Amino acid sequence: SIMPASLSAISNGAKNGLLFKGGVHLERLSRAKIIAFDKTGTLTKGEPSVTDVNLREGIDTAELFSAAGSIENQSNHPLAKAIVEFTRQVEGVQLKRTEVTEEFGMGITAAWGGNKYFIGKAEFVGKEEALTFADGAARQFAKTGKTVVFVRDEKGIAALFALKDTIRPETKKAIESFKLNGIQTVMLTGDSEQTAKSIAQEAHLDSYRAQCMPEDKLNEIKQLKSKAGVTIMVGDGINDAPALALADVGVAMGEGSEAALETADIVLMKNDLQKLSDAIALSKKMNRIVK
Ligand code: ADP
Ligand code: MG
Repeated sequence: SIMPASLSAISNGAKNGLLFKGGVHLERLSRAKIIAFDKTGTLTKGEPSVTDVNLREGIDTAELFSAAGSIENQSNHPLAKAIVEFTRQVEGVQLKRTEVTEEFGMGITAAWGGNKYFIGKAEFVGKEEALTFADGAARQFAKTGKTVVFVRDEKGIAALFALKDTIRPETKKAIESFKLNGIQTVMLTGDSEQTAKSIAQEAHLDSYRAQCMPEDKLNEIKQLKSKAGVTIMVGDGINDAPALALADVGVAMGEGSEAALETADIVLMKNDLQKLSDAIALSKKMNRIVK
């Protein structure tokens, strides 16, 4: 019978920082053909910080940073937290409570100090103007794997923040070992094409899809299942929950959102992707023993 082998494997998993919600998932891991990863918080630490700022000429910096900081202070997005932290350190900046509207995967908007602000990706603030702002600075930042957030006021693009997140220390080695186990690797991200490309290259992934809205991640998993076969999805965000649910095996990062943890079949307690790779190797070995 399969029970003793799979039970011992499960308890092994728990010791090694993996939580399995049922025995069927371990067996499925051994048949995985492709693994899809969210970027922010999954392949990367999810703790970006502001590295560069470009401002429109003549702008009142204390006013601009007070607005951007106050508005982003109402968001839980990791990019928002980094922007708040940055603005707090600027002289003359005062953060105030303000009412905002957040559009998930796009950005955030609010009225502040008699002006209306849009803060977010190029598509959210007006793509053409965003991409030519400061002599096309956004493209150069994105090429080095930085994420760019634009601020628009009633006069046009007012500022650009470049933010850098770091790849988790275990990511590259884990990606290599997935590949050695014959599993294709793909990244699904809401970030821009250039930023996605740079991170995918740095992490040695086989492929990537940029500009994914949550429903795009879901559709991508649907496609992978029908074209590639048994599909694993690894993610941490609320955005990832539908894709985690649809995947043959959904894996959540331990420090992920509640929605991701609840939906997933396996939880990586210490956010260590290498543990998932070890579990796949174990599951392949176990299948050989049982058969
Ligand atoms: P990811 O898949 O990389 O975790 P999201 O889907 O959460 O990214 O967001 C996609 C993009 O939308 C971000 O890269 C950013 O440009 C923009 N965005 C979303 N929310 C915010 C926010 N609160 N402030 C600034 N930008 C935001
Ligand atoms: Mg994420």
